[in-house]
Amino acid sequence: MVELEKVAGEVERLRDDIVQTLVELIRIPAISPDYGYEGEYDKAQKLLEIIRDWPFDKVEVYEAPDERAKNGVRPSILAYYYGQDGDKSPRLWILTHMDVVPPGDLSKWTVTEPFKPVVKDGKVYGRGSEDNGQSLVSSLYAVKALMNLGIRPKRTIILAFVSDEETGSKYGVEWLMNSHPELFRKDDLVLVPDGGNEDGTFIEVAEKSILWFKLKVKGRQVHASMPDMGLNAHRVALDLTYHLDRHLHEKYDKRNELFYPPESTFEPTMGGNPADSPNIAPGEHEVVFDCRILPEYDLDEILSDVERLSNEVKEKYRKELDGRTLPEISVEVLQ
Ligand SMILES: [Zn+2]
Repeated sequence: MVELEKVAGEVERLRDDIVQTLVELIRIPAISPDYGYEGEYDKAQKLLEIIRDWPFDKVEVYEAPDERAKNGVRPSILAYYYGQDGDKSPRLWILTHMDVVPPGDLSKWTVTEPFKPVVKDGKVYGRGSEDNGQSLVSSLYAVKALMNLGIRPKRTIILAFVSDEETGSKYGVEWLMNSHPELFRKDDLVLVPDGGNEDGTFIEVAEKSILWFKLKVKGRQVHASMPDMGLNAHRVALDLTYHLDRHLHEKYDKRNELFYPPESTFEPTMGGNPADSPNIAPGEHEVVFDCRILPEYDLDEILSDVERLSNEVKEKYRKELDGRTLPEISVEVLQ
């Protein structure tokens, strides 16, 4: 406890440096090439410059190739501060991301500008000051405080500053895990301070699996007054959606209080058809489901249920039209 108070005191003493570092980092836009920007290169260089003289035991830079980005790379930095058993200590990763989302409509930044940070009333205003700037800088100065006090924690701390979190992590932590699996050990703990609430009581220890799929139903467009001449894809899609919705909720109904909400969710979201008049029974109709699934369940099993129900509905409406068997129903996994 005494140690903790000492560390907190040291952090407080570092306040101006902390604010200064955050401000310096916000000034450098680090936005994904997916949005047409040049990526995280400059920000990574700045960060390396800031910590150049800090007594980290090891600093490594990993560069995921991405020809769209500045210098063709999306860098991630790993800074190691060894624990009491040096390199042999168990480890704690603190993972933050350097990239930010685009500034959006500049005319909506009426008071400050996105990349010209302003410090006012104890707050820092600028793009990415919150996500993920404050976490990144906090992790950095938590370690700095330990360094200044000469404290070695039980666990080695690995500060990981990664690229590409905002658009999917393909060139960030996902690339690191796939291209450098040797970096990770089974007993590593990982803290990701991205999201939460003001008093720090909201801590997630797990996330549900995500499954997005699109159902595409093809029938045959027909005048609504003569439905038998075609096949109304909207009706088939409604039937399928209704049964799928019921089936998934009934079969996958486990609860796990680690999660909020504690059950899996299955929501029909986007969808529609090209009919542009009340009297057109459309020949195609799409429905998208957003599912968040407890880890107790296997996504492949859920997808095979979706396929099975699709086939059942297909049989129910089965019809030969102009040598084609309708309806056609396809299931496309979006994520
Ligand atoms: Zn974030």
